[in-house]
Amino acid sequence: MIKRPLSPHTIAAQAGHFVNAADGALTPPLQPGVTFARNRDYALIHENRSYARAGTSIVDVAEDLLAQFENAAASQLHPSGMAAIASLLRAVPSGSTVLLQSQIYWGTADWLRQNAARMGLTLVEGDLSVPSTLTSLISEHSPALVMIETPSNPWLRVTDIAQAAELTHAAGGKLVVDGTAATPILTRALDHGADFALHSATKAINGHSDLMAGVVSTNAVDDPMWQTMLRDRAAGGAILGSFEAWLLVRGMRTLPLRVDRMSASAMDLATRLAGHDAVDQVMYPGLPSDPGHGIARGQMSAFGGLLSIVVKGGAAAALAAAGKMEIFHRATSLGSVESLVEHRHSIEPHTGIPEGLLRLSIGLEDVDDLWADLDQALSC
Ligand SMILES: *Cc1c(COP(=O)(O)O)cnc(C)c1O
Repeated sequence: MIKRPLSPHTIAAQAGHFVNAADGALTPPLQPGVTFARNRDYALIHENRSYARAGTSIVDVAEDLLAQFENAAASQLHPSGMAAIASLLRAVPSGSTVLLQSQIYWGTADWLRQNAARMGLTLVEGDLSVPSTLTSLISEHSPALVMIETPSNPWLRVTDIAQAAELTHAAGGKLVVDGTAATPILTRALDHGADFALHSATKAINGHSDLMAGVVSTNAVDDPMWQTMLRDRAAGGAILGSFEAWLLVRGMRTLPLRVDRMSASAMDLATRLAGHDAVDQVMYPGLPSDPGHGIARGQMSAFGGLLSIVVKGGAAAALAAAGKMEIFHRATSLGSVESLVEHRHSIEPHTGIPEGLLRLSIGLEDVDDLWADLDQALSC
């Protein structure tokens, strides 16, 4: 009997020690079936299988694996990160206040601004990575839900999850943490007191830029919000397809390995970039000089593959550097095997993003090749 909790590397490599019940395969079957038979007594042949909108075996396998990574009682998958976020926010009782961190993934703020009033929610936004702002906004508004993102995208700001959970709970609310940039391998938000841990699985969790998915995990499986989300998913129909879930399980088998490599390369590149003449600022919580480093060390086991740099010379210089890159693809998204660069100001010009900011998602390429590309692109 092994007397230690298994490492995520071990859990991932074996997809949770998966053995297919029907034939012993070490890989789950790709089963696209939508409808499931009943026997002559009209009982379902498998009690949890009636119609695919209410659940499929491969989604169960993927959710079990995610719950193990997250150290959660349960995980639920949605067909994108935004679908998971929207589902969670739709489950907040109407008439309540939602407190949202500002300068996070623009899609979250955009969706809430468009829909909060119609759902009967009051939306309050502020930089919750600043402890005094977090404290004052929670005490002023007693929000039913506080939503933080750490590290935030693309600013890489770090918010203290334990402190946010304590303050939120004292005011009677619940805390959700979007940890997409960290992945459950680097930060287990529930262990730090969050009620819901959320990720876009489109990013590093799948890691191959070939499917969209989102996941929410909790220990509070009886929570009315959690139950509302489950019912909403089955009845409202926003479910993950079997092929996506199958690919996701395959992708997750290397998640801890990929996260290790991306984090090591990002740390190396952030350090080198901080000394580059063409770079004004490097935003990466792994750097000892980063304002979020102290808190990040307490809640992250490494610092992830996402970093931002501010290039000297504003938008023109940043776009020129991005245009010269030969290995980094100029494309949105993050957390995949291939490295990506994005000029966020071109995408969201009115959110205060520095014009010279380039967001870099570090993939699995050789780190010296990546450095050679960055160095040649940044040097005039
Ligand atoms: C990409 C992203 C999302 C949205 O996920 P999709 O899978 O693209 O819908 C949410 N939060 C963060 C931090 C993200 O980076």
